[in-house]
Amino acid sequence: MSERILLSSPHMGGGEQKYINEAFETNWIAPLGTNVDGFENELAEYVGIQGAAAVSAGTAAIDLALNLLGVGAGDTVFCSSLTFIASANPIVYRGAKPVFIDSEWDTWNMSPQALERAFEDSASEGKLPKAVIIVNLYGQSAKMDELMEICNRYDVAVVEDAAESLGSTYKGKKSGTFGKYGIYSFNGNKIITTSGGGMLVSDDLEALKHARFLATQARDTAKHYQHSVIGYNYRLSNVLAGIGRGQLEVLDERVAQKRAIFERYLEVLSKVDGVSLMPELEDTFSNRWLSALQLDPEKVNISPYDLIDALNEENIEARPVWKPLHLQPVFEGCKFYAHGEDEVVSEILFERGICLPSDSKMTMEQQQEVIDVLIKNLEC
Ligand SMILES: *Cc1c(COP(=O)(O)O)cnc(C)c1O
Repeated sequence: MSERILLSSPHMGGGEQKYINEAFETNWIAPLGTNVDGFENELAEYVGIQGAAAVSAGTAAIDLALNLLGVGAGDTVFCSSLTFIASANPIVYRGAKPVFIDSEWDTWNMSPQALERAFEDSASEGKLPKAVIIVNLYGQSAKMDELMEICNRYDVAVVEDAAESLGSTYKGKKSGTFGKYGIYSFNGNKIITTSGGGMLVSDDLEALKHARFLATQARDTAKHYQHSVIGYNYRLSNVLAGIGRGQLEVLDERVAQKRAIFERYLEVLSKVDGVSLMPELEDTFSNRWLSALQLDPEKVNISPYDLIDALNEENIEARPVWKPLHLQPVFEGCKFYAHGEDEVVSEILFERGICLPSDSKMTMEQQQEVIDVLIKNLEC
């Protein structure tokens, strides 16, 4: 059987080894060191923000952001529903309760009208959320102007989960730089990877300094080991930060490759009745981390699951769209605000959506194989 075609896998650029070698030569294998500082500065410069703190995972970055915002027991945090569970897990780590917000059709991300209703309700109950976590799905930025306007009006801080949207922009500004805090992930499947890792970014350098303190066991400045608050072991290692520096050098190239993959799917699939690819909102630029589409059950004779199985039989990896968090058993009983009265957009996207192989290492021939299997199954 031919080599498996993957959704998204690590794609090294070649420069990573140089930074890893430097870490070895200086014996800076332990956490921290020049690669950590370099990776933080280079990423902050790339996205155009004051500062960055390198951590062990995107999840850790979200947890630190919520911690810095003072999220604690009894608080609520609003969060996009159509996302990977890591967006919301830190809300629970903090002892707070998530309230999930539906998607809208233009970006598949947080619906401003659902967010507005969630705020109206919480204001009338006299209990505003401590934070709002806005996710940018598969590289596509959410409607940041509309969403930020609402959050600013209620004076509630935003954490932008840009784990999937590094390199994307909204009205010319880099994804992840809109809220009080932004987070990125360098997990193995993301557009660039350090095998595992994450970044917390902000214009508030004092807050980032405190984040680094919390991420290294919150050790007070004293000659002995002294601690006044509970800390975490969340820092990124100097070796992995070296991989990140090399990966950052090829990020724009990866974005171009992912976008070209999307364009090739679009060219063929836009001609198939009942198939629609994920939109790109005007004035935004998506990194197209994953190419995603929807199947209209009225027009297409195959279900997303059967299509995923058909691809899998040809050794091609495809996945359903994220299962909305308000439908997850672990979040049963949590509040949820739908886009419209009888329209739950995230559920429809979940029922109809598929993520296609979007691996930047995929050859044209391999993508043609994927397209052939799709066409064969869609047009019968
Ligand atoms: C990957 C991902 C995360 C978590 O990042 P890790 O580095 O795996 O902890 C968070 N949110 C979203 C939307 C993600 O896709």
